[in-house]
Amino acid sequence: MNSSTHAAETPLPGERNQNATGEFPAALTVLRGVGPAVAARLQKLNVQRPEDLLFVLPQRYEDRTQVTRIGALQVGQRAVIQAQIEISEIVYRRRRSLLCRISDGTGQLTLRFFHFSQAQLNGLARGTNLRCYGEVRLARAGLEMIHPEYQLLPADKNPPLEQHLTPIYPTTEGLQQFRLRKLIDQVMNQYLPAVTDWLPKKMLAELSLPTLQESITDLHRPRRNADLAMLEAGRHPAQRRLALEEILAHHLSLRRIKDRSQHQAAIPLAMDTGLRSRFLEQLGFALTGDQQSALEDIEVDLARPHPMMRLLQGDVGCGKTVLAGAAALRAVAAGHQAAIMAPTELLAEQLYDNFRRWLEPLGINIAWLSGSLVGKARTETYAAIASGGAQLVVGTHALFQEAVLYHSLALVIVDEQHRFGVHQRLTLMEKGVTGSMRPHQLVMTATPIPRTLAMTMFADLDVSSIREMPPGRRPVQTVALPEDRRGSLVTRVREACQQGQRAYWVCPLIEDSDALDYQAAESTYAMLAESVPEIGVGLIHGRMRAEEKNRVMKKFAAGKLGVLVATTVIEVGVDVPAASLMIIENSERMGLSQLHQLRGRVGRGSHQSSCVLLYKSPLSAVAKQRLAVLRKTNDGFEVAQHDLELRGPGEVLGKKQTGLMQLRVADLVRDAALLPMVQKLARHLLENKPAAVEPIVQRWIGPDNRYGNV
Ligand code: ADP
Ligand code: MG
Repeated sequence: MNSSTHAAETPLPGERNQNATGEFPAALTVLRGVGPAVAARLQKLNVQRPEDLLFVLPQRYEDRTQVTRIGALQVGQRAVIQAQIEISEIVYRRRRSLLCRISDGTGQLTLRFFHFSQAQLNGLARGTNLRCYGEVRLARAGLEMIHPEYQLLPADKNPPLEQHLTPIYPTTEGLQQFRLRKLIDQVMNQYLPAVTDWLPKKMLAELSLPTLQESITDLHRPRRNADLAMLEAGRHPAQRRLALEEILAHHLSLRRIKDRSQHQAAIPLAMDTGLRSRFLEQLGFALTGDQQSALEDIEVDLARPHPMMRLLQGDVGCGKTVLAGAAALRAVAAGHQAAIMAPTELLAEQLYDNFRRWLEPLGINIAWLSGSLVGKARTETYAAIASGGAQLVVGTHALFQEAVLYHSLALVIVDEQHRFGVHQRLTLMEKGVTGSMRPHQLVMTATPIPRTLAMTMFADLDVSSIREMPPGRRPVQTVALPEDRRGSLVTRVREACQQGQRAYWVCPLIEDSDALDYQAAESTYAMLAESVPEIGVGLIHGRMRAEEKNRVMKKFAAGKLGVLVATTVIEVGVDVPAASLMIIENSERMGLSQLHQLRGRVGRGSHQSSCVLLYKSPLSAVAKQRLAVLRKTNDGFEVAQHDLELRGPGEVLGKKQTGLMQLRVADLVRDAALLPMVQKLARHLLENKPAAVEPIVQRWIGPDNRYGNV
């Protein structure tokens, strides 16, 4: 199929402003002062229709409702002052500037302009009265304001002051603040009364939240005594009201995608039961109960003529890969292709190894595709994928590059999906769209997502969860130690390695700086290489090239290295059953979910494994709570629930995930408490007011519906 026409039909995130024909919607130009040029600039602010301007919300506010006497000004304050010019002169110290000394009888202040026109110069003459607004600074000669906004006051005129706090909007090039403010005023007057509030008043009242009209008015024209601190923190009831509706819009949009998928066609994948039993028999283990029921979910979905959209979640090490293998086998057995994508080369390679071990004996042809595959090998792999010769394709982001064409891609699997954006998931999925047929999708994550969050963020997906670990695993024992006990750990590492076990020593990101991160790992590496060289010490960090990382990781997996010093590059997925000791430095700085992920690297073999959380004293209250949770439980779902309570969804999902929704008002971390209400509202509207769904989605996500027609 022609991919460019397809792209136009299914806009990807961030593309919704690009109108296919390059025309501007006529509606904006009905506003006074808006022609095609201004309309184009407004579109950069996500504004397509006049009504949308109501939802361009101020970034901050200024209080210009009262005049402050110069004598009462404080340094650093932003204030309106009203005074008369006593002296106006151009000075040539360091740079040419215009200085106006003004006085209001209570004190004096200097206005300093570095840029000024002749007209300005003429206006700012001695004896003139003016009103100005700016930040008060302390200069050598006393108080001053640099480039204040000002207004000349003709004799005896005293125009009214602002009645509301002054909103400061996000501007875009070529659209000035005052222009935007005037436009929004125009829309407030003309359109606000007609805007429909879709949320039932009764439910809003229960939450003590204002109506839509009240909220918009409060935000664009906050009353003089409005709580500025609350507004700035985004916690004002008016903001919460809009945040609620915005999250609701995304939720409804995702639900609609799910409903639609039930009307979309996919290839029903029949199973070759003989092949299936051969696959399961040669695994060398029996599936756990949870694995079995998740597999049943998947198989029921795959047999249907509609696309599967399933999220498989389960703690690290619970055995998701084998289910991906079973699903892929089903696609292949039915005569089609499956593709599985991992976020790093290392993880992709591990999947590739597993699938070769499990599926090649069944006569299945598996291809490998990553960014590092080049030249002839790449050309050949592309050809095999296009001809269908490659039945299962395993790889990284390389899987959905433009040049990759599939013969018949019936199933797309994304491993560690929290490391990808929706965009990437969709692009891979689109590779499997043929005519009206869509591929089945299975996305897997080791980050268990608490229920309320999953229901909001992943409303387009069905969820299967694995909570049970494969038998024989002994829960990892977790202890927290102050970092001055590091010395005793070296002995412990040596002993463990001498018994054939292996250890990780993780030095996580300390500051938001690669360099420091690297240093911490380097010095730990040097310390160990000096004190226990006999056990084999390796180092792996984010600055190394992929092949180098791979090489070290493989040496560790093969037992040639006893201890692996690492930055958090080992965070996901890596499977080394002999590793039984995990030491984490600076654990007090890390989030629960991340610590839990790291801990999941050990405890995969039959040895009793331990996780040692080193911390710097004194511990903050939150850090103490976090470490206590980890000591208490090994269950990722429980950990995630605590994390949500302690830190909010950003921690649980990672920055990438929370960034996905491109929220304007809402912040999933700050507004986490609204999530249960979103569910309730969605149910209410779908049952009682289904006609509200479309306008709410339109209002917040836009006419193209950002998640596309997927
Ligand atoms: P994850 O869910 O983190 O991707 P993996 O699929 O990598 O976990 O599985 C971790 C390890 O457990 C692998 O070595 C895998 O072969 C093994 N495994 C998976 N399921 C079982 C099971 N039912 N019994 C025993 N071992 C299993
Ligand atoms: Mg995995």
